[in-house]
Amino acid sequence: MTENARAGKLVVISGFSGVGKGTVVNRLLSDYDHYTLSVSMTTRKPREGEVHGVNYYFVSNEEFEEMIGNGGLLEHAGYADHYYGTPRSFVEENMAKGKDVILEIEVQGAMQIKKAYPDAVLIFITTPSASVMAKRLIGRKTETEEQIDNRFKRAVEEAEHIKRYDYIVINDGLDDCVSEVNRIVESGEGGVRYDPKFKNRFLQDLLEIIAERTEAARARLHAQKDQ
Ligand code: 5GP
Repeated sequence: MTENARAGKLVVISGFSGVGKGTVVNRLLSDYDHYTLSVSMTTRKPREGEVHGVNYYFVSNEEFEEMIGNGGLLEHAGYADHYYGTPRSFVEENMAKGKDVILEIEVQGAMQIKKAYPDAVLIFITTPSASVMAKRLIGRKTETEEQIDNRFKRAVEEAEHIKRYDYIVINDGLDDCVSEVNRIVESGEGGVRYDPKFKNRFLQDLLEIIAERTEAARARLHAQKDQ
């Protein structure tokens, strides 16, 4: 079968902040030629090194709301005080060409996609533990302390939605994770079974990390006051 003989798949990749989703997606794009990546629109400010039209389309609230009004977005969601959404035309054109279109989006958007496109493949990527995730998120130094706290809190909410994904992949090594995600897309097989014990342990660790960070922030505040 030639590539153009079949419509491409919609591949939704979600995961907590700091699980290495971006790296996995980049590798899927460079290792296989049947993928293309949807560039999202967002109202958040670019991080250092991010380029308009490559990482995101960085737009104002007004522009984003106009896109919603025009039906120009396939899905959209609010995340950490900003809008994020998937432009519709790129996805539809590329699926028609036979490309598997990757959407790297959060859970609210993923569920909108599942409803509108029941054939979409929904994959949730997680780290083996919350502490690995915390180390990566803090270590990449792209967020302020407050943003990091927000992302941890958001992860607590997101953990409850893992079970709504078709596949769960644990990123315990980049090469394996990339080939596992590709195997799922190509064959419909792979990933690990949803395990409530894993989720509960992850959640408990995450809550402890948040509590420790809150305690440390409180101690810093007291130290400042005493000076
Ligand atoms: P970041 O600000 O770290 O780039 O992204 C924050 C979150 O928004 C991530 O979970 C990312 O997957 C998600 N996200 C990025 N683009 C979209 C989008 O178009 N739609 C939705 N629903 N989420 C998105």
